[in-house]
This record gives sequence, C-alpha cells and structure tokens, in this order.
Amino acid sequence: MRYLILSDIHANAHALNAVLDDASRLGYDRTLCLGDLVGYGGAPAECIERTFALAPVGLIRGNHDKVCAGLESPALFNDVARKSVEWTRSVLSAGDLARLAALEPGPKVIARDLEICHGSPFDEDHYIFDASDAERAILTMTARLCFFGHTHVPAVFTSSRDPMQTGGALEPDEMRLPKRGPALINVGSVGQPRDGDARAAYGLFDVTRRTVRLRRVTYDIRGAQQQILRAGLPTWLATRLERGQ
Ligand code: ZN
Repeated sequence: MRYLILSDIHANAHALNAVLDDASRLGYDRTLCLGDLVGYGGAPAECIERTFALAPVGLIRGNHDKVCAGLESPALFNDVARKSVEWTRSVLSAGDLARLAALEPGPKVIARDLEICHGSPFDEDHYIFDASDAERAILTMTARLCFFGHTHVPAVFTSSRDPMQTGGALEPDEMRLPKRGPALINVGSVGQPRDGDARAAYGLFDVTRRTVRLRRVTYDIRGAQQQILRAGLPTWLATRLERGQ
C-alpha cells in the first residue's frame, strides 16, 4: 500500500500537474492531502478540481482554505496573503467556496499507525519548525506516524532512542522509518516551497516497506508566475516561486 502525500498546493496548478505526473509514473494507491489547496497562486479552481478528482482518503483544511472559505477573518494574515484571499474569494464559484468550507479540520487519523494534520496534531494552525515544536507535537500524536504541512519545508523528526533505520536497498530520495518510535514527517509544499529549492515537493509513503520518499519535481515555474501576474496578484508571489522562498 502506497500513499501519495500532497500538502500546501496553494493554487499552483503547474506544480500540481507536474507532481501528479511524477507520482503516476512511480505509482501509488491512495491520496492524502494536508491542506492549503488555495491561497497565493493563480489557479485555485483548477487545484480544487484536480485534488477532489483524486478522491483523497484524507483531505483536511489549511489556514488559507479556512480564510478563503470565509470561516475565519484574514486579520492575522499579512498584506500579501490578504490580497490573495480577496482575489481567491472573488474568482471561486459558490460551489468551490462551499467545498473549501466543508473541508475537515485536522488532525485526522487515517489508519491505526497513521495520522495527518496541517500545522500540528495539537493545533491545526501551529507551525512545527524545530525539535522543541516536534517534541510537543509527538506527545499529542494519536498514531505513531504523523504527516504534517504548513511550514512548506520538508522535515523528519523522530525519537533519539529510535532513529531512522538505515541499510537495505533504497532509492536516493528514500528513507526507512523508525521501527517502533514516533515520526513526524513534512513532505514539503507542492505549490510554494520555502526551503530554497524551487522544485515542487511531495511524498510517497510505502506502508509495507516502511519507507518515505521525499520527491522534488521541476515544473513550469514561468507559467505559474504568469498566471499570478495576470491575476493582478502581488509580484512577490511570483518572484518567491523561482527562489523557493
Ligand atoms: Zn501553506
């Protein structure tokens, strides 16, 4: 059983399409989506459509989905994010806004050993950036493995007593998960990576082999940027894509 793990698509259809092509080539059985389908990018409707068409077994909301759906005020968002919320709300159909509003909050348990959240297992909007955030999150996890998003930075946190397993034949981008202890895994962002690598990021979790692949995929960044600029969104939203910021 292999899960395709998508997070923080952020209305970047060019990146999403490239990721789905790559994932189809490698093969997967089920899809999990950790939220932030929209916000920042210029193709919110297409990203909602493509994501729902995958019929994810887990599909939870991110903070941008929540605000774009009108469930929460954008008061805490910065100027650029707020502008993108206003634009997104103006172009989405009532049906798409309703689909966003109906997204479940995380965390969500997918299987006995597996849960997903957008920010952290104890607060859907909380960022997990470092080991101390991760320690707090691990204490509140229901399942042993938790996939999270929100930071747009790929990361894996495990217990020091039960580190990642090594050895055996693995792909270059593949790692074996700990045998017993907990693991918190961020596969990065499909549509707005922020780790300095502009390529789209996603993950493949193989339950049987107990491995995770952190994939990076090149995509038509120029196309995504043109869509943002044509929409009249802030230029920074286009610039940051080529910088991976
Ligand atoms: Zn996000």
